[in-house]
Amino acid sequence: MRYRASALGSDGVRITSMESALTARDRVGVQDFVLLENFTSEAAFIENLKRRFRENLIYTYIGPVLVSVNPYRDLQIYSRQHMERYRGVSFYEVPPHLFAVADTVYRALRTERRDQAVLISGESGAGKTEATKRLLQFYAETCPASERGGAVRDRLLQSNPVLEAFGNAKTLRNDNSSRFGKYMDVQFDFKGAPVGGHILSYLLEKSRVVHQNHGERNFHIFYQLLEGGEEETLRRLGLERNPQSYLYLVKGQCAKVTSINDKSDWKVVRKALSVIDFNEDDIEDLLSIVASVLHLGNIHFAADEQSNAQVTTENQVKYLTRLLQVDGAMLKEALTHRKIIAKGEELLSPLNLEQAAYARDALAKAIYSRTFSWLVNKINRSLAFKDPEFPNWRGTTVLGLVDIYGFEVFQHNSFEQFCINYCNEKLQQLFIELTLKSEQEEYEAEGIAWEPVAYLNNKIICDLVEEKFKGIISILDEECLRPGDATDLTFLEKLEDTVKHHPHFVTHKLADQRTRKSLGRGEFRLLHYAGEVTYSVTGFLDKNNDLLFRNLKETMCSSENPILSQCFDRNELTDKKRPETAATQFKMSLFQLVEILMSKEPAYIRCIKPNDAKQPGRFDEVLIRHQVKYLGLMENLRVRRAGFAYRRKYENFLQRYKSLCPETWPTWDGRPQDGVSVLIQHLGYKPEEYKLGKSKIFIRFPKTLFATEDALEV
Ligand code: ATP
Ligand code: MG
Repeated sequence: MRYRASALGSDGVRITSMESALTARDRVGVQDFVLLENFTSEAAFIENLKRRFRENLIYTYIGPVLVSVNPYRDLQIYSRQHMERYRGVSFYEVPPHLFAVADTVYRALRTERRDQAVLISGESGAGKTEATKRLLQFYAETCPASERGGAVRDRLLQSNPVLEAFGNAKTLRNDNSSRFGKYMDVQFDFKGAPVGGHILSYLLEKSRVVHQNHGERNFHIFYQLLEGGEEETLRRLGLERNPQSYLYLVKGQCAKVTSINDKSDWKVVRKALSVIDFNEDDIEDLLSIVASVLHLGNIHFAADEQSNAQVTTENQVKYLTRLLQVDGAMLKEALTHRKIIAKGEELLSPLNLEQAAYARDALAKAIYSRTFSWLVNKINRSLAFKDPEFPNWRGTTVLGLVDIYGFEVFQHNSFEQFCINYCNEKLQQLFIELTLKSEQEEYEAEGIAWEPVAYLNNKIICDLVEEKFKGIISILDEECLRPGDATDLTFLEKLEDTVKHHPHFVTHKLADQRTRKSLGRGEFRLLHYAGEVTYSVTGFLDKNNDLLFRNLKETMCSSENPILSQCFDRNELTDKKRPETAATQFKMSLFQLVEILMSKEPAYIRCIKPNDAKQPGRFDEVLIRHQVKYLGLMENLRVRRAGFAYRRKYENFLQRYKSLCPETWPTWDGRPQDGVSVLIQHLGYKPEEYKLGKSKIFIRFPKTLFATEDALEV
């Protein structure tokens, strides 16, 4: 296998000042995968990634797409100096970097006045959130301040620690794993200053509030409050410092994590809250809710003679009454009874121990997840663009940042993985469509014939999940609505009946034939674009229904805590219409996201996690090969290389190679395009090796370019 320095920045004698920015180390392997000679070889792709990673070169392009490998160490490459190095320079004249993408996107936004979106994807721990933060930091530090001062910039930056405290947790894969999807808009005025923002959040993993796997934690905020909260605050909330005292915090058996300093993080969060417009009352109300979740987890039940559950922890009820600002007797009754309305009459049916524990956990999850949504809304109010002169956002442009969970395959995959993987299918579909579309558009704009490219269109899998009536979500909803004996297994039966012939769906009966791996009862398998995933249907109906018993809802609607009274709206009690199921809500929010993204110019950052041990310097090839596959990188490269490996504006091409031809050296007075024609004729380019577009030269094979580069070196 032969590796070449990338065309730009090769050891040319006459290098321009910008190109001199590339050191020998920067040029290990190829900086752009399209220049790989053997571009269809996955091994060559991974070898290039590995060679660069060994030199701490974590960024490589596939055309305009940035591939990033998490270094798990501070490489000191995000300083103000680095930001400056990437400002106003052409993408290809400096080593690949996140800031090159940041700056290119920003310039497009300013000069073309077109909304932009940066899609950051990759599996858990691959570096999506870090990339998002670095991008925000880049804009906060390099963009001009708005006339409203730096307040917006501070708020944009400070919204992060707050959202992370409430939405991130330590998992086995990542000590700071985002347990929700995030789309953030940053709005710029006509001078290019950030003036506002807006956040959309997706599917918070609320089951974590009541259960964590071994080695994992609950959301950071609980530990931060216990570690860092002032004595007085904890006393008021009735909390002890020790996380071991709370059942909702002990399940993962790892309250302490060496990489996390909950105490100092608490200070950061506390300060951030005040920057994003939380006054002391708001903070008190918010912390009361956090504390109430911990107290709820410590509610115990005992069975009476009729096996009905009774609350045995009066002390906890006392605190809950105060913190939730609800009536204690009403809360106790709601935790141990279920209210049913039949033929206009209210009936109270006592719960057994298991049902009461279920009701308690459902309440904790509902309180936490609704508070999280409230928090996002509150942050949005603080970020909202409030200039009276532009009441309709006129004159502003928007840059969107998408930091959404990557494809997930666990030993045991449930409803959450089903939703997350569906989301990835959707984004992959968008990615392929838009990359193909933009390639095609560029060819058309340049007047070059477009040759169709074969690619895996995963629309068929998206349809399998989302189609009306026949899709998995529709069938699940139908089962959720069916009164009577619907269970997870009846859902599976119906699914098997309806979609059994689908090429991407494998049932129990067909498992061995189709994928040579048998399936357990209660499982189905989807052949995702990124690989096959076996889902267990256990809990699908329950999680999709996402119901809170009526009397718990009534209790919460009576809360006088100002945040909770917004979270639990009384209209919910009288509303006859059944709320959308969780999967349908998620589907609709994804449709909305796709629509938002379609209306913007996309840029892509594909993050790769180098090893499972969170260690610097370790490049686990098996793990990386898997990610290269499911991020669709080889496919992306194929699309990019379908026609031409390299394309450059005539001006840039001429500037770089003019020294190779006496007629263009030292200056060419005519049109750059004519200069390039003269130049390549002199170099002996054959007609099949290149095409001349309206503003760019397109070169089909890397070897042509490398030969030209070699000529420079002579
Ligand atoms: P999840 O899907 O679980 O939220 P993620 O893709 O958002 O994962 P991050 O939280 O961004 O992953 O990264 C995980 C950790 O890896 C970070 O906490 C940090 O320690 C390290 N890391 C990520 N990117 C970089 C980087 N560019 N430089 C140094 N360290 C990094
Ligand atoms: Mg993250």
